[in-house]
Amino acid sequence: TPRIFSGVQPTGALTLGNYLGALKRFVEMQDNAGMETIYCIVDLHAITLWQEPESLRQAIRAVAAAYLASGLDPKKSIIFNQSQVSAHAELGWVCSCVVRLGWLNRMTQFKDKAGKHAEAASGGLYMYPALMAADILAYRATHVPVGEDQKQHLELARDIAAKFNNDFNVPDFFPLPEPMIGGPAPRVMSLRDGTKKMSKSDPSDMSRINLTDDADTIAAKIRKAKTDPEPLPETLEGLEGRPEARNLVGIMAALTDRTAEDVLAEFAGQGFGAFKPRLAEAAVAHLSPLTAEMNRLLADPAEIDRVLGDGAERADAIARPIMAEVFDVVGFLRSR
Ligand code: ATP
Ligand code: MG
Repeated sequence: TPRIFSGVQPTGALTLGNYLGALKRFVEMQDNAGMETIYCIVDLHAITLWQEPESLRQAIRAVAAAYLASGLDPKKSIIFNQSQVSAHAELGWVCSCVVRLGWLNRMTQFKDKAGKHAEAASGGLYMYPALMAADILAYRATHVPVGEDQKQHLELARDIAAKFNNDFNVPDFFPLPEPMIGGPAPRVMSLRDGTKKMSKSDPSDMSRINLTDDADTIAAKIRKAKTDPEPLPETLEGLEGRPEARNLVGIMAALTDRTAEDVLAEFAGQGFGAFKPRLAEAAVAHLSPLTAEMNRLLADPAEIDRVLGDGAERADAIARPIMAEVFDVVGFLRSR
């Protein structure tokens, strides 16, 4: 049976991009009979950039609350935080030894996140894709739903799996994981710059809609979102060269389960002064029940911790025997 694995970093409040590009699709796959679904909160990845420890712990619970509020069900999916299952760190090291520096040097996310001072970036940020490969391979996951920004890392995960199978002469030991990129919103863009993706770690809070934002904040962020003075066009071609306009139309389509063409059919000829309040309404209608449910869940952190502990046990039960095989294949002596 297909086994789905994916994760979100507890680096801050989740954004509309995370929700539309990842969480919504996690739920669809969970509810698709015959798929085993494993959803991780990747805290090991989060510390590739420094995190204040108590905020990190809260952020882990907040991602868990967002998972559950979005419709992930611990009875149907395994939900846990990465650091509670040691296979991630263990296989992460093995994958670090399989990956080549030349491959890592091509990763655009490292360049984006390290910025101009790559010398000052952590070793972990550089090795991030090796740990991500390990996350997937530790479960022999076959499919990985992610946003478009993770495409390059997933290709690297496939390369690492193939090189491991080849180096140790164990064909088919690790299945090559299939990226599942798509759905209505694989790449939601920043509200301030239509050429940059919306990110929870962007320094500007105005660049994104957070799942924790209230109705007034959402309306204000959309009102101030960058746009152009042209009215909305009749066809998609009319959005070419207008990244901000295209992004807002795309968000409206995803929120209201329509195609971008259908959205344009409704709004063609209207300016953003008319469109933005309608978009804000759609965003609030969609997100406010989610925010309320997240807050309800966060009022009982002990229950969230229990769900994560239980998920970690189930994840460990899958990963541990696979790790034992990995250690044997690699040639580690194990005598206890
Ligand atoms: P950070 O800035 O800390 O990297 P992020 O917003 O990029 O945060 P991640 O935890 O790195 O979030 O990614 C979680 C999932 O959300 C991944 O599957 C990623 O591809 C997806 N995702 C992130 N940003 C977007 C976006 N703007 N549009 C669609 N999907 C996204
Ligand atoms: Mg990211």
